[in-house]
Amino acid sequence: MSDFSMTINGQPVSAADQFDVKNPATGDTVGLAPNSSKDHLDLAVAAAQVAFTTWSQTSDAVRVQACQDIAAKIGEHAEALAQLLTREQGKPLNGIGSRFEIGGAQAWAAHTASLSLPVKVLQDNEQGRVELHRKPMGVVGSITPWNWPVMIAVWHILPAVRSGNTVVVKPSPYAPLSTLRLVELMNQVLPPGVVNSVCSDDRTSNIGAAMSAHPGIRKIVFTGSINTGKKVMATAADTVKRLTLELGGNDAGIVLPDVDPKAIAEGLFWGAFINNGQTCAAMKRLYVHESVYDGVCAALADYARAIPVGPGTEEASVLGPINNRMQFDKVQRLVDAAKHKGRVLLGGEPGEGLFFPPTLIADLSHDDPLVTEEQFGPALPIIKYSNVEDAIRQANDSPNGLGGSVWSRDVEKARQVASRMECGSVWINKHGAIQPNAPFGGVKSSGCGVEFGEEGLAEYTDIQVMFS
Ligand code: NAD
Repeated sequence: MSDFSMTINGQPVSAADQFDVKNPATGDTVGLAPNSSKDHLDLAVAAAQVAFTTWSQTSDAVRVQACQDIAAKIGEHAEALAQLLTREQGKPLNGIGSRFEIGGAQAWAAHTASLSLPVKVLQDNEQGRVELHRKPMGVVGSITPWNWPVMIAVWHILPAVRSGNTVVVKPSPYAPLSTLRLVELMNQVLPPGVVNSVCSDDRTSNIGAAMSAHPGIRKIVFTGSINTGKKVMATAADTVKRLTLELGGNDAGIVLPDVDPKAIAEGLFWGAFINNGQTCAAMKRLYVHESVYDGVCAALADYARAIPVGPGTEEASVLGPINNRMQFDKVQRLVDAAKHKGRVLLGGEPGEGLFFPPTLIADLSHDDPLVTEEQFGPALPIIKYSNVEDAIRQANDSPNGLGGSVWSRDVEKARQVASRMECGSVWINKHGAIQPNAPFGGVKSSGCGVEFGEEGLAEYTDIQVMFS
């Protein structure tokens, strides 16, 4: 077990107060995280403000190189980062687990190096020249969740740095250690103050709230729940901060009558159970046409039954525990309520500690809480429909609008249904796939703004129009 530090102005900074970060598979302490005070935040913001004066003036080539160097650092330390991530987050090393997440973070960092926002000439004639410039904003505050902590920190930090901003990042108290380590690695290749980290337990100190209010921070990029996102939005109003909010989802999958149930079972399973269901754009409710309903239920249960669940540090595990008690209790409450209304195809009873087996509950109706609430865990409700218009209406009958999917042998027909779903990403015969060149974000209460691609990069800039 070791102590972890903040990084402020390129230096390790410890806090007088610390808190335990527990391994969700065993309950053992993985490390002690610093419980930052408001003074630490002020120091971090001040360091980032000073660094901004020079970093914002660096050439494109310097920032491209910085992103590439960060990608290389992540690559050099990939296995150690993955081991730490598994111990604090719970996800397995293998499958779509920690090694996958660290590899993704490295790839995303490298891709961000290739993005650019060149000056756009809006007009160039005898009336004059009008150019649109994209300028860095200042200090960006990044607030991240516990489900994909390293990947999401890279999604926030790299485009900010690429476009000339400086950063203060605050990870979730449930999985902060790998992010604190990531920022140390970044500081091996960046000038002091460009990326700083702070951390808090959210009980005795809530640095996320303090960041949202801080007058020295120009923009908040936040990934987390809708409720906290609303608080960030309200708190940030006073200083008119720019916001990118990536919030919760309750993604629907719609299975059309023409599918082969066995052929889609694997895709359906991983669409829902990626990272044990603790993924914003996981499939969280499944609508299946009555003509294939029994076949899909059976094929999905057969596939899920064979999935090895165990401590993430065991190489054979493919799913691990739920990350924390609060999340576990939410899953259990929703499953307990659903069990009495629907038919349990698999799972349904909690395991040891924070382990909860993959759970499939069929025959639920559209208004059962496991369907209407974001469970964010390993439990999938299945709802039978007879008319595709009803399925589309029910899929859209949600305040959330992050992702959705349609499953069919007829891709053209699936595309027509997909285009009517109210969500920021929609997939045909898969669910949840994202890539660094495609903008990603939610509609309705699932957030505002996008990440990834040039559209995502643009969110870290102010527009300045130059008339000459
Ligand atoms: P959360 O909202 O509880 O916490 C997110 C972050 O906000 C943490 O760092 C937390 O410390 C911080 N925080 C707590 N109180 C705050 C306050 N008052 N002001 C500012 N920050 C505060 O979310 P979580 O439980 O860590 O993550 C799970 C949620 O995140 C799910 O709803 C999931 O769908 C969502 N999520 C969304 C995306 C996306 O891209 N849309 C990605 C991952 C997770």
